[in-house]
Amino acid sequence: MPVKSPYPDFEIPDTDIWSFLFERNDRAFPDDKELFVDADTKRSYTFGQLRDSAVTFAHGLKATWNWKKGDVLVIFSPNCVDTPTLMYGVAWTGGVISPANPTYTVDELAFQLGNSEAKALATQRALLPVAREAAKKVGLPEDRIILIGDERDPTGMVKHFTSIRNISGTTRFRRQRVDAKKDVAYLVYSSGTTGFPKGVMLSHRNIVANILQCKHTEGRYLSWNGNADGKGDRILGLLPFFHIYGLTCILHVSVHAGYAVYVMPKFEIEKFCSHVQNYRITFIFVAPPVILLLGKHPVVDKYDLSSLRMLNSGAAPLTRELVQTASARIKVPIKQGYGLTETSPTTHTQTWEDWDKDIGSVGQLHPNMEAKYMTTPEDDSEPQEVPVGQVGELWMRGPNVFMGYHKNKKATDGCLTPDGWFMTGDVGYQDKDGKFFITDRIKELIKYKGFQVPPAELEGILLDNELIDDVAVIGVHSEQHACEVPRAYVVRSAASKASGVSDADEAAKIVAWIHDKVAQHKRLRGGVRFVDAIPKSVSGKILRRVLKDQAKKEDEK
Ligand code: ATP
Ligand code: MG
Repeated sequence: MPVKSPYPDFEIPDTDIWSFLFERNDRAFPDDKELFVDADTKRSYTFGQLRDSAVTFAHGLKATWNWKKGDVLVIFSPNCVDTPTLMYGVAWTGGVISPANPTYTVDELAFQLGNSEAKALATQRALLPVAREAAKKVGLPEDRIILIGDERDPTGMVKHFTSIRNISGTTRFRRQRVDAKKDVAYLVYSSGTTGFPKGVMLSHRNIVANILQCKHTEGRYLSWNGNADGKGDRILGLLPFFHIYGLTCILHVSVHAGYAVYVMPKFEIEKFCSHVQNYRITFIFVAPPVILLLGKHPVVDKYDLSSLRMLNSGAAPLTRELVQTASARIKVPIKQGYGLTETSPTTHTQTWEDWDKDIGSVGQLHPNMEAKYMTTPEDDSEPQEVPVGQVGELWMRGPNVFMGYHKNKKATDGCLTPDGWFMTGDVGYQDKDGKFFITDRIKELIKYKGFQVPPAELEGILLDNELIDDVAVIGVHSEQHACEVPRAYVVRSAASKASGVSDADEAAKIVAWIHDKVAQHKRLRGGVRFVDAIPKSVSGKILRRVLKDQAKKEDEK
């Protein structure tokens, strides 16, 4: 039997994002509540300023390009306090936002512009060369590029969004009617961890549902005007706004709840610590690489992080060992949540009370959701539900489950059942108390002689070794064993490097160290290799496919 969320269901209003956030009559905080502050320059928007900025931008879009429902704006930019204006301006028009990763190459951006059929592209001055090239590739005219941020285009060819905002003068446009269930609001590309990113279509209702689900599970602990010093919670906006985790959990939820977000365009550990200290930040959404640095980086000791009430990690596996080390060092509780682009994104989170009782768990299911664990047959047979406690593939159903992949019926049919279940591709189990555990992705499990080895589990154990600063485990083919075997790619710690022990000896030491700590099929039969850094995506995921390519080359030699 599928399990239901332990929280009571609630009604999700049948309304579009703009009306839901800006035309509500139950808003508790005032117009002049500060919402988005640039953590470096302090340039900011209050709620009222954001609303006015978005409406005038929407009018500018209509006057300039006759912007209509369904028209797509791609935003190609690091986090910026101007981004919400674009997002909500487009929401006002009934258009679609498709945010792009600012580290994309010309070809990657061109793919998204083409696949999403973008009508315009917003970027910042530093990224103009890539933006121009990519636009040219797909035939998007240069005058469809606009700039946000503090810098203007020195040639004057590319307009700044503030000039678009002023274009419509006194003309007033009417809003087009939006169908919250059927109209796409966001076309967000998944991280591309397992292959090419897929365009995930999220409706207005999907986003509205997840804002309310997050407010129910997380918002119960946060406040726009209370807590700590009585001035309201302050969040560090370091997760990328181009990824669904930052987009919903930071941007939309804060506009709905009135939290102040200190926006960071780029993550650096020292800046992170100094912003927490200087702005007395109370809560942060992060990904596991940040927790790793908080647990191990020497600079962390120089800063006062005592204003932090909680950290929430999501986007990739976070192991028990890492939580324990980092939270003991910084004396801040660390909990975990889980979700996917396809679920808008959050589906699970630990409660603040239980963070240290069920470390390693992603917590309980969000309200209005159901979940079950299923078998994943390799042949054509039907998947079967597995009993509570046993490992299976997680399937979920709820109002935040996406509409389908853009122009990719095959992929959509491969993971959405006709009765609304979404097959996540992640494996895990549920314990008898209703706590969920995610062990790994099906595609990343290493198969050693028919036994499954989750790389994330080995990584968690290895990170506990003081010779190791960071690690990723992959499966490599072994002639000797005639199957895949686990191999660890390791960044040696400063202490390990200083010891003068050779790579070969250190590798042997690590293999021997983990030997008795794991079941025999999980031993590092593929050995240990040393690298300077583990390749990771901006959203915090280990890019195992990069290491797999590297391993192939190493093994060919
Ligand atoms: P793609 O689907 O393009 O290959 P992706 O799945 O990495 O990329 P996202 O939607 O950004 O793209 O990430 C969702 C995935 O992140 C989940 O399927 C899961 O594997 C992983 N994930 C998220 N949160 C957690 C968590 N707390 N623990 C373990 N894994 C997590
Ligand atoms: Mg995915």
